[in-house]
Amino acid sequence: MADTKSKTGDVRPRPVIDAEICKGCGRCIVACPRKVLRPRTGINHRGVQPAEYTGEGCTGCAICFYNCPEPYAIEIEVPDRPKR
Ligand code: SF4
Ligand code: SF4
Repeated sequence: MADTKSKTGDVRPRPVIDAEICKGCGRCIVACPRKVLRPRTGINHRGVQPAEYTGEGCTGCAICFYNCPEPYAIEIEVPDRPKR
């Protein structure tokens, strides 16, 4: 049987945000059609609140990724589809 789990073991798509690279602009939060991103509690070394995933509801559409101006701040982890 094909492995459908992501690197973290989750079988659903999810955004992965690097809290230290994120500059807290909030563009991904505004752009997400599912509204599953929010500002994280606390600040990073840049002195800003990075974005974080609420943990539920991501469809893997990658709109947040394409709206992020900061290279490597956010990526979308999409588990492999099962092979037929
Ligand atoms: S991939 Fe789509 S649904 Fe998931 S967090 Fe990004 S914008 Fe929202
Ligand atoms: S758009 Fe990018 S830099 Fe801005 S808050 Fe989201 S992940 Fe951080």
